[in-house]
Amino acid sequence: MDGIIKEKYQAVIGLEVHIQLLTDSKIFASDKTEYGALPNTNISPITLACPGTLPKVNKKAFDYAIKLGLACESDITELNFFSRKSYFYPDLPKGFQITQEATPICRGGFVTIYPKEGEQKHIPLIRMHLEEDTGKSLHGIMEDVTLLDYNRAGIPLIELVTTPELTTGEEAYLFLSEIRKLVRYLEICDGNMEEASLRCDANVSIMEKGSMLFGTRVEIKNMNSMRNVQLAIEHEIERQIALLESGEPIISETRSFESASSETFSLRAKEMAADYRYFPEPDIPPVLVTEAWINDIKATMPPLPNALLKKFMSLYGLSNYAASVLTEGKAFALFFDEICQQTAYYTSAANWLLGPVKGYLNELSVTLSEIPLTVNHIVLLAELVESGAVSFSIAATQIFPILLQQPKELPLAIAKRLNLIQDSNESNLKTLITEVLAAYPDKVMAYKNGKSGILGMFMGEIMKKSQGRANAQLTSKLLQEALED
Ligand code: ADP
Ligand code: MG
Repeated sequence: MDGIIKEKYQAVIGLEVHIQLLTDSKIFASDKTEYGALPNTNISPITLACPGTLPKVNKKAFDYAIKLGLACESDITELNFFSRKSYFYPDLPKGFQITQEATPICRGGFVTIYPKEGEQKHIPLIRMHLEEDTGKSLHGIMEDVTLLDYNRAGIPLIELVTTPELTTGEEAYLFLSEIRKLVRYLEICDGNMEEASLRCDANVSIMEKGSMLFGTRVEIKNMNSMRNVQLAIEHEIERQIALLESGEPIISETRSFESASSETFSLRAKEMAADYRYFPEPDIPPVLVTEAWINDIKATMPPLPNALLKKFMSLYGLSNYAASVLTEGKAFALFFDEICQQTAYYTSAANWLLGPVKGYLNELSVTLSEIPLTVNHIVLLAELVESGAVSFSIAATQIFPILLQQPKELPLAIAKRLNLIQDSNESNLKTLITEVLAAYPDKVMAYKNGKSGILGMFMGEIMKKSQGRANAQLTSKLLQEALED
């Protein structure tokens, strides 16, 4: 699409994120919540809405929602009621969904995203409420028949609703990355969009730049990855611009994203609040969230990614980039933090984790807990390199792999055993330098006449003579001194 036309408009985006909670049992029944169980095996009479059954609230679901609310600095609601929301599809047997309509457990708060290095933007939240998940309709397994699996019906969900303050698909992507990181740190959801334990609907509208009046919003569903959320939004913005440019109206509707074509198609006209016909759930007494309950949860809060990010930058002097990669996952971040309790070589330790360690984990597709690497290993490796005993590249390519095979052997012992200790003895190095310079008098002249690139050739020769063991940093310094004479 023409860039000038696009420039005329600004997009307004609000997200509704569904976060499936990692409780062992469902929100109103004791059925298991495991993923991948045989269809219709975790379905008690309560889940099936048999007459006479009564729902009972799972306290853990509240614990988890309070955790997330505290992490986002939301206000926690004291007195919580549930409502019935009319639901027309067969994947909830009751014909309604139990949800917190009037009293969401969390109100307000925000999530911080980092659109560019050194830039941050707070995305305010409207609310988070608890509700039950629906079952699954399975189309296409049997011809002309839709199969229903109610295992998922009643699994606790948090629905998180943002204010419409996101402006691009990229920002929506960043927002979801932050949410996923947060729920994983809190261990309240596995954050897996592919398995739909984290889901997102995007509300998109456009208006002319500088306008105060929001355009008609379209809701997009069924995006099963963060990249697809971004793509769907970008496409939707272009679709809406094209409509307005050709004088056609934008219809308030729900559209579905199709990943094969990256396009959206209309599912249905948007339901209005009146369609939901909310009414108070008479079978669940109000849930009182006391100060004491909130304090109990506060006491179990892990360090949060943002706090660790700030700490890594201000206390350990890391760049925003290094700190954000290290805080991507909780285990990795805490591993690094522990290393920094035992050594002051922060940057060196960070380089070990970001380079060889991450490389190794990615290559094997494993996590830190699956390899025998300890905090002490990294401390010793960093010290080995910083003391000048071994160069980083030798340590990374020759000592590190052996350490992973024989985690009990000390890095220094491996270095000695394999004869990898660098030569940092000045007089040894000076002898080598003198020998090499004497062998190439014409090159020395050329260097003195301004061909400074020859330095690399001298270094190469010296390294060869030392069988790769000359301390490169020290050699380079001594070499330059020798050439200045
Ligand atoms: P509904 O249940 O009708 O989807 P919600 O209140 O749950 O309504 O969600 C509304 C979402 O739509 C919020 O994320 C909000 O920020 C977003 N939104 C509201 N108005 C607009 C608009 N004009 N353009 C884009 N998003 C909007
Ligand atoms: Mg909604």
